[in-house]
Amino acid sequence: MALARGPRDLICSARECEEKATHALVWSNPAIHTGRHKTWLSCPEHVSFLHDYLAYRKFPVETLALHEFLAREAHSTTE
Ligand SMILES: [Zn+2]
Repeated sequence: MALARGPRDLICSARECEEKATHALVWSNPAIHTGRHKTWLSCPEHVSFLHDYLAYRKFPVETLALHEFLAREAHSTTE
């Protein structure tokens, strides 16, 4: 799965989707991300798709509303 965009664009991370993101999925791969997290953004249509993609791989994933994610980012000093 190619993910060309970063979270800063606030566009859905699903491949070839151009929709505005409304949700953020904060996830990690326990095998390679020790204490670090990756973020995918999602439009309403792709939230369950992206969540299932990660859940299928047994990656821990947390789904947040975009405004919650941005508020959290603003208070975070990591990344
Ligand atoms: Zn989408």
